[in-house]
Amino acid sequence: MNKGRLIIFSAPSGCGKGTMLEQILKDDNFCVSVSATTRSPREGEIDGVNYHFLSTDDFMSRIDNGDFLEYASYCDNFYGTLRSEVDRMLEQGKNVILEIEVQGALKVMKKCPTALSVFIAPPSVGELRRRLHKRGTESDEVIEKRIAQSSREIALASKYDYIIINDALEDAVDDFFSVVRAEQLRAENSAETIIGVISNS
Ligand code: 5GP
Repeated sequence: MNKGRLIIFSAPSGCGKGTMLEQILKDDNFCVSVSATTRSPREGEIDGVNYHFLSTDDFMSRIDNGDFLEYASYCDNFYGTLRSEVDRMLEQGKNVILEIEVQGALKVMKKCPTALSVFIAPPSVGELRRRLHKRGTESDEVIEKRIAQSSREIALASKYDYIIINDALEDAVDDFFSVVRAEQLRAENSAETIIGVISNS
């Protein structure tokens, strides 16, 4: 069986990353890696499903053991991608999505140069602000902080292989599948296909 592909998937807060992933994961060829974090579970979050929730001590000893492909500190908590989780799903032939913030993403790009990296951007910062206000889960002050953070992240979008603007959800999801398909069709990823063409004479 072919190994799956590692896909870095980053989006600032309010870009509709969650809804995009919901659509993408309807396709069985894709799965998302469950990260470890030191942050407390939010209401409804389940250990082992949304995250592996670890104490700071546990997280530190897993760093010492070399268990993480990458980890980063974000808003006073640690988040990390577990190598074991990623390897197991790649071996199953799945395309493994890493839903991670920009600093972690840059580390994975260095360590795994064949990973496909996709940045999801809002149509504009003004629209991002409108969406965050509409969601109504944060105060005006927190919204402005998130917008400042998002603007810093958007400034690094050019480091990614592809940028998808999430204006209309369906178009953004279509763009994502198109990007993955295009990657699969790259000549350098098609050695097995060509061997099949030649050997079947
Ligand atoms: P939240 O606390 O809202 O679930 O996540 C906060 C941020 O951490 C999000 O931008 C999310 O993409 C990022 N994140 C989640 N898991 C990981 C991880 O394993 N590594 C890194 N670097 N970022 C992560």
